[in-house]
Amino acid sequence: MHQLTIHEAKEKLSSKEVTSVALVQSVLARIDAVDDRIKSYLNLDREKALVAAEQADMQGEGGLLHGIPVAVKDVLCTQDMPTTCGSRVLDGFIPPYNATAIEKLTDAGAIILGKLAMDEFAMGSTNENCAFQIPENPWKKEYVTGGSSGGSAAAVAADLCFASLGSDTGGSIRQPASLCGVVGMKPTYGRVSRYGLVAFASSLDQVGPFSKDVSDCALMMNVISGHDRRDSTSINKKVPDFTRALTDGMQGVRVGIPREYFSEGLDPEVDRAVRNGIEMLREAGAEIIDVSLPHTEYCVAVYYLVAPAEASSNLARYDGVRFGFRDMEATSLIDMYRHTRSQGFGDEVKRRILIGTYALSAGYYDAYYKKASQVRTLIKDDFATAFNRCDLVVSPVTPTPAWKIGEKADDPLALYLSDILTISANLAGIPGLSVPCGFSSDGLPIGMQMQAAHFNEEILLKAAWNLEQRAGVAGRKPILP
Ligand code: GLN
Repeated sequence: MHQLTIHEAKEKLSSKEVTSVALVQSVLARIDAVDDRIKSYLNLDREKALVAAEQADMQGEGGLLHGIPVAVKDVLCTQDMPTTCGSRVLDGFIPPYNATAIEKLTDAGAIILGKLAMDEFAMGSTNENCAFQIPENPWKKEYVTGGSSGGSAAAVAADLCFASLGSDTGGSIRQPASLCGVVGMKPTYGRVSRYGLVAFASSLDQVGPFSKDVSDCALMMNVISGHDRRDSTSINKKVPDFTRALTDGMQGVRVGIPREYFSEGLDPEVDRAVRNGIEMLREAGAEIIDVSLPHTEYCVAVYYLVAPAEASSNLARYDGVRFGFRDMEATSLIDMYRHTRSQGFGDEVKRRILIGTYALSAGYYDAYYKKASQVRTLIKDDFATAFNRCDLVVSPVTPTPAWKIGEKADDPLALYLSDILTISANLAGIPGLSVPCGFSSDGLPIGMQMQAAHFNEEILLKAAWNLEQRAGVAGRKPILP
């Protein structure tokens, strides 16, 4: 039962072929069997899940996710469960309120099983920066899941929940989705409320779903989207029924291929799988055109100024006074701040705070942060120009499939560079998704990235669904004990 998609499980629930309790039990048994190997859950609340499932069964009918067990990245505040952000500094922190995305899930009837592993404060591309455990790729032991929402991607790929939520600041939903072979969407900035999402870089962060197929992605988007007065960046725009976008045929849709995204450094197997996917879109009726995003080469540099600058400001609040961990041995207030932060944060977080504080400091602000913000506008304009000519742009998600844990861990620059294809969507605020399009010769999944203009998630879902129908990789599962 744990292998079902949400739409399959919903049908079986409404025909009374299965109960919500049975779904939860099946997923819990699966977690017991394989999560020692995957290490995706930081926190699991079995009792509560079973009680919620019993209630759902008693109620019978309900919202869009009635009785469906899901899980969330540990960056979303949950009132009754610890929220650590993968950091020692938040060890033991239980938020006093729920994130809006969490409320929307539970209002729709979903059962929240627990919290999933992530890179500390969502900084990373492999999940090796999690202070508590490093999740592993379901497709290959000791391989990275990607990051920073690695637990969220791995849990869906290994059937440890029916769907999950993650957050994407520079690729943290699309990249692990690609490396773990599931569907992951970063919605338009402003589409999903960020109230209760622990902030990393506020002008880039966005909440989005991981799912087993495109249809479930659309369903999850229906549940979590919408205006929220408690998030000033949330946009008051009508939310369409995303499942209606899933129609067969790509006639009249112009697919842009950005030449800068197929440059050297791209793994030949990734190149082949993505080009193959593009052919399938053409066969489905799409018109394929070449486009250019000329400022692509500046994305990594811009992102690694803007994101750390915002992070250095957002993370100032973890000083031992209000949240989580506090060094109890310090004898003065200043020492307490200092020790709490030195012991509480990991190396990557400290590196970002240093870079960000430097970039914002007097005398350097104009040269770094201001300059980066100006180039960011050029990157955004590139997309606006491209979307005058096409409806979506298609590319790889990452230059390579997953790699071995530890392989790049000592080389932060190599990891920053691997974000090159996903960062621009966040800088521009546009929606993007990753959908499986093939496998490498050693059995690792490869995703295709699709990006569209602001609030045009529907065209992404349509294109991804058309690809999924044709790519022949949907439903393929990793072999686990
Ligand atoms: N890998 C990128 C980083 O380390 C993106 C992270 C994210 O999207 N949260 O910042």
